[in-house]
Amino acid sequence: MNDLLSDEDIAFRDTARRWVEAEVPKDWCRDLERREHEFPELLWQRLCDFGAHGIGIPEELGGQGGSIVTQALFARELARTAAGLSWVWGVTSFSGSKAISYCGSEAQRREFLPRIAAGKLRTAMAFTEPGGGTDLLGGMRTRARKVDGGWVIDGEKIWSTCAHVADYLFLMARTRTEVAKRSDGISIFFVPRRSAGITITELPKLGMRCVASCSVHLDKVFVPDELLLGEEGQGWRPSTRPLNNERLVNAATCLGMLDGVLEDALAHMRTRQAFGRLIGEFQALQHYVADMAMWQAQGELMVLHTALLQAAEKPSAMESNMAKVLCSEYVGKAADLGIQILGGMGYSAETDMQRYWRDSRLLRIGPISNEMARNQIAEGLGLPRSF
Ligand SMILES: Cc1cc2nc3c(=O)[nH]c(=O)nc-3n(C[C@H](O)[C@H](O)[C@H](O)COP(=O)(O)OP(=O)(O)OC[C@H]3O[C@@H](n4cnc5c(N)ncnc54)[C@H](O)[C@@H]3O)c2cc1C
Repeated sequence: MNDLLSDEDIAFRDTARRWVEAEVPKDWCRDLERREHEFPELLWQRLCDFGAHGIGIPEELGGQGGSIVTQALFARELARTAAGLSWVWGVTSFSGSKAISYCGSEAQRREFLPRIAAGKLRTAMAFTEPGGGTDLLGGMRTRARKVDGGWVIDGEKIWSTCAHVADYLFLMARTRTEVAKRSDGISIFFVPRRSAGITITELPKLGMRCVASCSVHLDKVFVPDELLLGEEGQGWRPSTRPLNNERLVNAATCLGMLDGVLEDALAHMRTRQAFGRLIGEFQALQHYVADMAMWQAQGELMVLHTALLQAAEKPSAMESNMAKVLCSEYVGKAADLGIQILGGMGYSAETDMQRYWRDSRLLRIGPISNEMARNQIAEGLGLPRSF
């Protein structure tokens, strides 16, 4: 992969790798994840100290600079040990930094990006509703109506990850119902999470246990005009840019988890004995890790190629979907085989394999389900839209 990266990218990746090894080791992450309902503030703080929240934010706005390539490289390195905990960084990276960069005005960029870069502002994405996440527009009941000086929002969001600790919610609502197309009349707001009328409830879930996903109830929540991102009623198209970014960060996260799975599987095969031999000598298990290495190599090329397209602002929706589907399926298969290789220890909460398996499972469902991503890929091949 080094052939496709600039010297600067390689230096950044190597620095990030050393930092992760020293500051975010696997056993520390395993312990954090076990503390359900306790947001890992210490991890957030270490990310601040490294400057991770400034990745992809221009230096003149207090960030570290860099592109989606940098963001993907970091997502991969962090997920190798942190697995789903890497969302502590990822959520604000795409629902804060990218959302404001792509959907906000110059004044909003100047106001919010320096605070995000400094780690002083956290965000969460509140798009999905109980009525449906795949059919986001069909399921959307959240409404914003115009009042003097702003908007009043009523509705219900679900699965908003990190909403309980966010300062702002990157939120989608319908501002007009009489529209020619469903994607018209959609607006994007940056809603202060502590606004009157917001109730947040954590939802128990399979993985990423200390990074809560929440339902968000909005009852007559007032949002001032200056927190509308972009034009009223025209929010759908700009919002697809941070969503594309999220898809690729997801793919890179899956790849990082796959790295973690493969290294743990190999380490176990090199030490565990059965029938007087190392289990790494058994061909059946060698085939498992050979498959993982092939998935890793394919995922790496796909993620990097897509990141380079996005960085060059070339069309990449199809590639983002492909990278997300492939990497989420590869890591799922790899983590499952990883548990098999570790035997009983793979099922034990004392090792990380179960964490990779639980955390990676989500990424076949969200942020876009793999069925829906395949629908869009098929449409990109010129077939009629199936949804
Ligand atoms: C842990 C977790 C964290 C999340 N974090 C966030 C977040 O931070 N912010 C946010 O906004 N959302 C978040 N989500 C929501 C996530 O994006 C949705 O769960 C996802 O989009 C799927 O929507 P759904 O759950 O409503 O499933 P549904 O839309 O009900 O889909 C159910 C099944 O039907 C299939 N299906 C639906 N339509 C089609 C079709 N046309 N063709 C083929 N198959 C179809 C789907 O693929 C899926 O298999 C999170 C979800 C989870 C579980």
